[in-house]
Amino acid sequence: MSDASTDTAFRGLRLHNTLTRAKEDFVPIDPAHVRMYVCGPTVYDFAHIGNARPAIVFDVLFRLLRHLYGEEHVTYVRNITDVDDKIIARAAEDFPDLPRGEAIGRLTETTERQYLEDVTALGCLPPTIQPRATEHIGDMIALIEALVARGHAYAAEGHVLFDVRSWKSHDGSLEYGKLSHRTLDEMVAGARVEVAPYKRDPMDFVLWKPSHDDDPGWASPWGLGRPGWHIECSAMAGRHLGDTFDIHGGGLDLIFPHHENEIAQSRCAHGTETMARYWLHNGFLQVEGEKMAKSTGNFVTIRELLADWPGDVLRLNMLRTHYRQPIDWTVAGLEESTRTLASWFDAASDDAEPRPAAEIVEALSDDLNTPKAIAELHGLKGRAGHKALAGSLAFLGFRRDSFAAWQESRAPEPAVPVEEIERLLDMRIDARKAKNFAEADRIRAELEAKGIQLKDARDPATGELVTTWEVKA
Ligand code: AMP
Ligand code: ZN
Repeated sequence: MSDASTDTAFRGLRLHNTLTRAKEDFVPIDPAHVRMYVCGPTVYDFAHIGNARPAIVFDVLFRLLRHLYGEEHVTYVRNITDVDDKIIARAAEDFPDLPRGEAIGRLTETTERQYLEDVTALGCLPPTIQPRATEHIGDMIALIEALVARGHAYAAEGHVLFDVRSWKSHDGSLEYGKLSHRTLDEMVAGARVEVAPYKRDPMDFVLWKPSHDDDPGWASPWGLGRPGWHIECSAMAGRHLGDTFDIHGGGLDLIFPHHENEIAQSRCAHGTETMARYWLHNGFLQVEGEKMAKSTGNFVTIRELLADWPGDVLRLNMLRTHYRQPIDWTVAGLEESTRTLASWFDAASDDAEPRPAAEIVEALSDDLNTPKAIAELHGLKGRAGHKALAGSLAFLGFRRDSFAAWQESRAPEPAVPVEEIERLLDMRIDARKAKNFAEADRIRAELEAKGIQLKDARDPATGELVTTWEVKA
């Protein structure tokens, strides 16, 4: 064995930064206190599996940072957005008989609990801090007051708006748009901006808005009102991580306007050059080429999937694709992930090493290259590294016990490949159509001999004969 040569030496963590659109060496501001903020859920409904992607991706980064810098040196903040117009509307629908405040409380508490149960089932560690927006209203008001005092925000008709044209670089050019790499004109052309008579510029965005009747509202210098979504994250990030911190994450759809606005608010209120040094964004989870989203209705909740699959399979299925690429979510992918996980747990030793294998850490350190890490796990399975495999699986958040329990409860696998069963069923349909009932019966007997039970039934709507099959117990 030779000593570690330079080409295999650990090169440190590198992350793709949306600010520069380049992969950069990660250098923490303070290695004794590495700080990451990730935008969390708006709690009004069950999370869909697309929402699980940032939870899982940034959980892997959290685990890696803890490994590299030490558990006690990493702070991961993921917020709960529990004040939002979608929440107000849903609370009124779900609890029409309750007073508004109570209805909102019920909805947000239940949804927050469901979210935490779901992401726990997906193997995600609890973040260090999970702040709720409603517990930081004072911080939001203070930030908005600072923005007004510095000439970056103005009050109009009960609203307070951020003045995008007030924010200039040293050379006089506008700063707003540096994350999404767009000019104001491009933004106006591309975005559906709310035109309001009280806005100085169409891109000015709401920091505070008035509350009427029984809307949730807090007393402020601008009257009874509530915060806009963007200021919530600036306030919670500032409170828990300081004016400037290391990493800020979320899905691709948050770059503009949400993260652009967070940067504008935080930098202008604190008078800093940087809000977060590295901005990371996960790609979309798609179904048939389309982004999974509540608004289009093409979504499946984490809850629904957990009824059929263990969280570990969903987690592996997510990590098979690099976090910046789109994922096409399919049942075939889940089946494949199930087989992979089963083969790893079969090979892994019960006696796990307390740390991940160096190859895994190296792969993840290259901008969270999880497909590479998965290839390395296959390699560990092949070699005699069964303790290293077990240690690496645990590090990545895979749990042998829950997976094994699910496997036991799952219906037995057919002894015949599914494609073969389906081919025989097609042949049987053709035989029946040709009135060759002897052949149809022979096929039924052939399948039964292999433990496959057929059931014929007529579709009540069409009268058509439908055959289903199951594995005999
Ligand atoms: P939302 O509740 O819509 O604010 O989303 C919560 C998080 O999930 C944000 O980080 C979004 O960017 C992310 N997200 C939403 N839909 C998807 C999707 N289809 N694929 C990946 N991430 C998504
Ligand atoms: Zn946010």
